[in-house]
Amino acid sequence: MIIVFLGPPGSGKGTQADILHDNHGFFHFDTGSRLRAEIASGSELGQRIASFTNAGKLVPIEIIKEMILKFLREADAERIMFDGFPRNLAQAEVLDEGLKEYGDDLDYAVYLEIDEDNLLARIVNRRFCSKCGEIYNLISKPPKQAGICDNDGAELTQRKDDTEEVFGTRLKVYLEETKPVLDYYRQAGKLHTIDGDYDIEDVSRAVAELLGV
Ligand code: AMP
Repeated sequence: MIIVFLGPPGSGKGTQADILHDNHGFFHFDTGSRLRAEIASGSELGQRIASFTNAGKLVPIEIIKEMILKFLREADAERIMFDGFPRNLAQAEVLDEGLKEYGDDLDYAVYLEIDEDNLLARIVNRRFCSKCGEIYNLISKPPKQAGICDNDGAELTQRKDDTEEVFGTRLKVYLEETKPVLDYYRQAGKLHTIDGDYDIEDVSRAVAELLGV
C-alpha cells in the first residue's frame, strides 16, 4: 500500500506518519527530515537546500525528483507513506510516473484538514528530540520534564523554520502550491479528508480505519 499525507505545515502529518510506522509497519518517507539530514551533513548540496528551507520556500524540483526516484528504485517495503511530498503538481506527477515505472500506483492521498487559525500556535510550540526525533507540542503534547525527551532524556530542540516569520512564507507556499495537489488527487478519486483538529489518538484511529489497517 502506498499513501501520501497532505496538509498544511503543523497539521500533524509527521506525528500521524510516526504512528502509522510504529503501529502498522509503514515505511515513513519524510522529505523534510531527509533534507534536514543533508543540511546537517555540511555538504554543498545541504548548503543549497538550507537556503530554501530556512526561508520557508520549496526546494527545487530537480533535488526532490532525484531523492524520490532513488528511493523508489531501492524501496522494498510493502507499505510506504510519503510525508511532506508531493508539495506541488510537478512533484505529484513525478510520483505518479515513478510509481508507474515500477508497476505501482498510489492507493490513498490522506488530507489532514485543519483550522488554519490554529496552525501558527502549533508550529511555534513544536519541539523535537535531537536524538530520536519524537515530536512534542508544549501545549497539546508536552514532555514530562521541560526541555527533555520522555524516551531517551535527550534535549528537545526547535526547528529553525518553526518561527512566526518563516511560518508566514510556508503557509503562503502551501496555499499557492500544495493546495492544488488536493484537486489533482480529488479528480483521480484518491483524496480522503480526515478532520485533523481532533486529538492525536482520534485522528490516528480515523486514518487506520480509512486504510483498513
Ligand atoms: P517539513 O519538514 O515537511 O515541514 O519541510 C520543511 C521544509 O523542507 C519545507 O518548508 C521546504 O523548504 C522543504 N521541503 C520539504 N519537503 C519538500 C518538498 N517535497 N519539496 C520541496 N521542498 C520541501
